[in-house]
Amino acid sequence: MVIQWFPGHMTKAIRVMEKEIKLIDAVIYVLDARAPFSCVNPKFTKLIGNKPIIYVLNKADIAEDEKTKAWYDYFSKKGNACVIIDSTQSNSAKKIENALRVILQDRIKRLQDKQVTLTIRAMVLGVPNSGKSTLINNLSGKSKTATANRPGVTRGKQWVKLASGIEVLDTPGTLWPAFDNNHVALHLAYVGSIREQVLDIPDLSLHFINDVRAINPQLIKNRFNIEFNEETQAVEILEDIARVRGYKVSGGEIDYDRAAAAVLGDFKNARYGKLTLEEVSDINKLLENHRQQEDV
Ligand code: GDP
Repeated sequence: MVIQWFPGHMTKAIRVMEKEIKLIDAVIYVLDARAPFSCVNPKFTKLIGNKPIIYVLNKADIAEDEKTKAWYDYFSKKGNACVIIDSTQSNSAKKIENALRVILQDRIKRLQDKQVTLTIRAMVLGVPNSGKSTLINNLSGKSKTATANRPGVTRGKQWVKLASGIEVLDTPGTLWPAFDNNHVALHLAYVGSIREQVLDIPDLSLHFINDVRAINPQLIKNRFNIEFNEETQAVEILEDIARVRGYKVSGGEIDYDRAAAAVLGDFKNARYGKLTLEEVSDINKLLENHRQQEDV
């Protein structure tokens, strides 16, 4: 399956971020804990340069705790700090504020010694739908930024002042060009980072079925009350789901579109229970994808 999105406005967004980054003390890098590796945008690496990074494993409430813990260890070493949060819970983002104060303690001390009013500026980065707006709303305790469970709602440049001398800059969710048949593109599509209009939803749902059954087939069996074995084709599973749910088009034919939308929508809405698509032990496979992307 070829997943190709059109990152035109994202190229422009990166340009804007390149200018803003000069004013920034630290980067808050938001990742969906269900696919944290795929949420690392190779285009951000150069942009961030040597700025301190706090990695945020967001949506931890719908990810598998053990896997999140392993990713926490991984990203704690990769950046300056890592926090695990559920941004939808009020006050949970305080952990980020605390981490900012820890990693910037030298700068804070310098400003205090000079008796200069303290302002810490952080830039919030992340792929579309990773939860940037939700997190900023949570940090600021207000509903300032629009949120939605679809990519591309956050646009333009937005500074949000927090009462405590911290300012955060919201940035548009940014992707990079993707190439055929790679895990990263599929995972980004599953977590809702890629606009549905550029996706073949039935085909994507077949990949999803195969990926999830490789992790734990019981999750699909339980969710849809169906049975299958290792030999069963993904398309047969999709057909069975349509049958169980009674999804038919006029004339009684199977409604593949509706079944596919249910399979994928249930993941976005966490109806399979806690489910993480990537493990730290997959890292070599995932890195290979990223290398391919950076080569081009
Ligand atoms: P953005 O595009 O990165 O700004 O993402 P949004 O903040 O608009 O969030 C996308 C969707 O994910 C919304 O439906 C949010 O309610 C949901 N969301 C964000 N953070 C969390 C979280 O920590 N847990 C859960 N379960 N949902 C979240």
